[in-house]
Amino acid sequence: MTHRVLILGGTGESRELAGRLAFRTNVEVVLSLAGRTREPVDYPVPLRIGGFGGPGGLADYIRERAIDLLIDATHPFAAQMARHAAIAASETEVPFFKLCRPAWQKVDGDRWTETISVASAVKKLGKKPRRVFVTLGRQELGPISAAPHHAYLVRSVDPVDPPLDVPDARYIEARGPFNLADERKLLQGEKIDALLAKNSGGDATYAKIAAARALGIEVLIVRRPRHATVETVSSALEAAELAHQRLTFE
Ligand code: NAP
Repeated sequence: MTHRVLILGGTGESRELAGRLAFRTNVEVVLSLAGRTREPVDYPVPLRIGGFGGPGGLADYIRERAIDLLIDATHPFAAQMARHAAIAASETEVPFFKLCRPAWQKVDGDRWTETISVASAVKKLGKKPRRVFVTLGRQELGPISAAPHHAYLVRSVDPVDPPLDVPDARYIEARGPFNLADERKLLQGEKIDALLAKNSGGDATYAKIAAARALGIEVLIVRRPRHATVETVSSALEAAELAHQRLTFE
């Protein structure tokens, strides 16, 4: 009997999980992406790309494709998709769990100012002009236009288009993982005095946080959105094991 698994992806963990499940002979995996990145990295399983049209559309997809297990492995900041997944799982009664990497924790030496949104982080940069390194997604940069007196260096996977509505902004396109030596060199070379980032968690982009700590740079860090209470594991390995249990005892 073949088991069908739908992974809601867009993270490194979702790719790793797909790889761990793909080799199992009685498991068919489809990984779903929102379609935000122009050139997604390679995945070891078939992809479907684009929104489902809300929780009802996802529920229809689950029924039509006879999905046996739904795994929400989206980014910790993808709050809407997480909500839709929980609703669709409950509506279809398909076995469901979430894969979500733990948040970064503040350690000695960190100069963190935690905020609840990008807008409030931008406000907390203050009135004095600063040199800010921004590592938010391209779609989250809007609030920056409320503080045009700072100089911004923005790093994103795809180009920021249209550019920010501020007089001093420069752009770098790069995809993680990033290492500590390079991040440190970048922050020093650009004379950065504030880092604007989300608490994404995970190893791939942590080096900027460690570099900021080493250089005594303030980090304006946006807290994660709250998620519904759902059974959650924190690594692809745990998710693969739980998937195996769910499919075996279904
Ligand atoms: P979001 O605000 O939670 O979702 C907005 C809408 O995008 C959803 O309602 C859904 O449309 C569609 N969508 C999101 N993830 C999808 C998926 N995996 N497959 C199919 N449709 C999806 O999401 P977001 O924050 O824009 O993130 C979009 C994608 O980028 C996610 O897959 C996430 O894992 C990835 N990502 C996000 C971040 C971040 O910081 N937010 C960072 C890295 C990667 P419908 O309602 O039409 O189904």
